[in-house]
Amino acid sequence: MACVSFPYDAPVSQTLFDRASLVTPGGVNSPVRAFRAVGGTPRFMVSGTGPYLTDADGREYVDLVCSWGPMILGHSHPEVIAAVQEAVARGTSFGTPGEGEVALAEEIVARVEPVEQVRLVSSGTEATMSAIRLARGFTGRAKIVKFAGCYHGHVDALLAAAGSGVATFGLPDTPGVTGAQAGDTIVLPYNDLEAVRAAFAAQPGEIACVITEASPGNMGVVPPLDGFNAGLKELCAANGALYISDEVMTGFRTSKAGWYGVDGVRPDLMTFGKVMGGGFPAAAFGGRADVMAHLAPAGPVYQAGTLSGNPVATAAGLAQLRLLDDAAYAKVNAVSAEIRGLVSAALDKEGVAHTVQAASNMFSVFFTDGPVRDYEDAKRQEAFRFTPFFHSMLAQGVYLPPSAFESWFVSTAHDTQAVERIAAALPAAARAASEATA
Ligand code: PLP
Repeated sequence: MACVSFPYDAPVSQTLFDRASLVTPGGVNSPVRAFRAVGGTPRFMVSGTGPYLTDADGREYVDLVCSWGPMILGHSHPEVIAAVQEAVARGTSFGTPGEGEVALAEEIVARVEPVEQVRLVSSGTEATMSAIRLARGFTGRAKIVKFAGCYHGHVDALLAAAGSGVATFGLPDTPGVTGAQAGDTIVLPYNDLEAVRAAFAAQPGEIACVITEASPGNMGVVPPLDGFNAGLKELCAANGALYISDEVMTGFRTSKAGWYGVDGVRPDLMTFGKVMGGGFPAAAFGGRADVMAHLAPAGPVYQAGTLSGNPVATAAGLAQLRLLDDAAYAKVNAVSAEIRGLVSAALDKEGVAHTVQAASNMFSVFFTDGPVRDYEDAKRQEAFRFTPFFHSMLAQGVYLPPSAFESWFVSTAHDTQAVERIAAALPAAARAASEATA
């Protein structure tokens, strides 16, 4: 099957998208869902079970997005659903403290050793925004360092992301983000410790923190080079800045203790989301107790949320985390390795230049001879090959992230049958990629 372009071959989804587009900008509530990068009709999903999603037209897909990471046990895991049902029957929000949020905080603290205290919030964006504010409040400094290609949610100061080449002061690259909001953001190339060293040298005593994805997954999967995270930690410590590891994507996915469990580099602050919410809006930031003590009401740095620690969300997150033991991670890692091997073999067979990069069970496929070490490398790929590849997989019932710059996600529910369906779809998709023209 060659490249399939079919605005109307998902008629119910198309009708829903038309309706949505009248009342919601672009028809979606989060941009990448709109299929703009690949074209065609975004699929409106109506249910999910295990490794499968079913769309409004009644078609079933093997899901390799897993809600962008959270659904590490697959969809509708019976124990998560039971915990949610039990919680929801007791009420949906109290606006008071509750035991569920204590239990979830205890679980996070027990799993991730550098986290001595944690504050629950409702989204990864809130977590990174709050962590940055806390770092500024703690250090009394204004400037922050982030890396090009790393995404930390739609925090104004962190949308200054498009810098390339050597160290640059971030300029707003989203209308609505003012120079004042982004002007204290220094955007550096990823995996480049020298650039970080130079930034500290150029602005002594001014940098509050360095924030980095623990292992980036938002420019495709681009793991840190050996020693990069440790080098960041060292440079931060030497310069009185905080090292913030954003584990919203990697946290509780790449190991029981997230990426910290893989590289052992101890951050001052960490951010979490996705997996810890079990498919509900729950996220967190935490770290050193002496830093967290600066947060209201213990300290002066204000942070709050009407739905923070929501009882239903915390019940879902806790149920999911409690099921994520070593055996579960071994299973997700194994199925990820199997699928990576299949994708690579299919593309090799068609002579398509590609690199599959992985961070534990997160992985992505770059249409370029690797390695991909930073955002500039990632952008050099032949992304035009992804579009027909994606549509061929979709037409054959495999749902990939609709962008060449995203991680693919698997779950414990991706069993032999699901893998066989992916394997069966790959040859035609690889052929479509090989036939693609820019
Ligand atoms: N940080 C990272 C590393 C992420 O991948 C994301 C979302 O994909 C965020 C922060 C923002 O999280 P949310 O979408 O829950 O606001």
